[in-house]
Amino acid sequence: MLAIFFKCLLSNKYKIFCLFFCLSLFACAGHTTDQPFTILTTTGMLGDAVKNIVKEDAQVVSLMGPGIDPHTYQTTQKDVQQLRCASMIFYNGLDLEGKMTNLLKEVAKDKAVYAVSDALNKTALLCDGPVGIDPHIWFDVNIWKQIVGFISQKLQAARPESAAYYKSNTLAYMEELTQLHQSVTAQIQSIPEKQRVLITAHDAFGYFGKAYGIEVVGLQGISTVSECGLQDIKRIVDLIINRNVKAVFFETSVSDKSMRAVLEGCARYGHKVTVGGYLYSDALGAPDTLEGSYCGMIHTNTTTIVNALR
Ligand SMILES: [Zn+2]
Repeated sequence: MLAIFFKCLLSNKYKIFCLFFCLSLFACAGHTTDQPFTILTTTGMLGDAVKNIVKEDAQVVSLMGPGIDPHTYQTTQKDVQQLRCASMIFYNGLDLEGKMTNLLKEVAKDKAVYAVSDALNKTALLCDGPVGIDPHIWFDVNIWKQIVGFISQKLQAARPESAAYYKSNTLAYMEELTQLHQSVTAQIQSIPEKQRVLITAHDAFGYFGKAYGIEVVGLQGISTVSECGLQDIKRIVDLIINRNVKAVFFETSVSDKSMRAVLEGCARYGHKVTVGGYLYSDALGAPDTLEGSYCGMIHTNTTTIVNALR
């Protein structure tokens, strides 16, 4: 047992050593002061927040594109170079970026790196038993407004020459977010109360459920790192049958496999349940589509949920 423990310890240390070695190896080639100010984010949701603040005034790079699961994301050599070259970095925190967190903390030793979840009051965060704090903070638009405010403050401080422009863009974007929050609230409330049960592949929608008044049930927990078991599938099948739930949902960044097992389980009992559609949970949709922006993602998810459950 002890031997296995030390083996794991050594292999993890080795991995971290390799990443740091790569960091020093991939110094930002040809970096000059003429290069544009580049803001790097881990998720697309954060990238979209930054873009709405800086517009064309800075370059924005997001590492995790459409369909990418941040919980299991593996850092690539290209990412390491981009982290090295970025002027500023924003990441979610609360362990959303699982395997990347140690690297981000290391990069923070010589540049501005912010975990945006640090901006939130602890009382706003949802706990999930011994597993930890739910990291899916973007699903309550009011909480996300606090994050946008935090990012804007950091950007204004880093670029005083653009601060007034960033402030004005932030105010306009905040207004858009306020309207989005009101629209989502009204749409979810239009589902009859008994039918407000949102069953998804993993527990990404806790903040959404709390903010907009819909019960949320995930097949997997708040992270996709551990697989769901037969007991989890049975628990969801029973719930669908007992509560006569009309639809369940797939997620664009999580495998359909377990949810398909739930559908088969319901079919075995002769219970008809449909697939309400795909929800954008931990990643935005493709660029240049509605779901490719944060507001579009929330809007599309809400429409998909309401159409299937109402
Ligand atoms: Zn997630």
